[in-house]
Amino acid sequence: MVATPLGNLADITLRALDILRFVDAVACEDTRHARRFLDHHGIRAATFALHEHNEQEATAKLIDLLGQGKAVALISDAGTPAISDPGARAVAVVQAAGFQVIPLPGPNAMATALSASGITDPHFLFVGFLPSKPQARRAEIERLKDIDAALVFYEAPHRISETVADLAALLEADRQLVVARELTKLFEQIVRLPLAEAPGWLAGDSNRQRGEFVLIVSASAQRSDLGGEAERVLRLLLAELPELPTKQAAKLAAEITGAAKNELYQRALAIKSDAR
Ligand code: SAM
Repeated sequence: MVATPLGNLADITLRALDILRFVDAVACEDTRHARRFLDHHGIRAATFALHEHNEQEATAKLIDLLGQGKAVALISDAGTPAISDPGARAVAVVQAAGFQVIPLPGPNAMATALSASGITDPHFLFVGFLPSKPQARRAEIERLKDIDAALVFYEAPHRISETVADLAALLEADRQLVVARELTKLFEQIVRLPLAEAPGWLAGDSNRQRGEFVLIVSASAQRSDLGGEAERVLRLLLAELPELPTKQAAKLAAEITGAAKNELYQRALAIKSDAR
């Protein structure tokens, strides 16, 4: 399983290039797309298509090659295969047939976006693509609302406006949205803004609706492992005494409420970061 670039062709590991040069064949989502990438790196391996519409037959071919003692790499059009991309079923079948599957780490849009998101929540849930039909999409967002974690979505340009509108309408207004667009490409853009302001921001310039998107919604500040009283006192101290060092605010809130000082400190950092 070989991860390939999200856009910038230089984002490929030395190990991935070695393996792609070494293997007898490359199973790929789109052979023409793969050929351009392989040619760019001077890799001559034979390719065959393995995509969501032929995964079963293509996997049978893959197993046949492995049975002949050949080595096969699996790549998708961009990023890590089997993550919102074909490959997961092939892996399961290949493993069940007794062959080893070796993952090569590399580009992934979710991890790339998260790393520069400034979202400080300790947990995140990778959702991937939401359903395309409005009713199913809204039901899914409602279901995700109660999860105490940041939410990570993939979205395409033709649905970005409706998805952001639904997120803003259905999730708490105090949550932040990170729009990570065209990562690693010429028009890369990463912005963090209050969720309620996101539909207006997107509509403000049609270029902002172009390209490929990762959306990250911060966890709800209202939902925290701290008791309601501890959260209330901490927020009050931070709001009323902005000059008070964060550590001091956490210590005071701990003394007043009996909640754990360290948890209050982590929470204070998250509240301060969300407010920026
Ligand atoms: N397997 C890929 C990965 O590891 O991230 C994801 C493939 S999925 C079919 C394609 C989606 O990933 C796009 O619609 C977009 O949401 C996200 N994506 C891929 N490349 C991106 C980029 N350069 N910038 C932002 N999002 C990207």
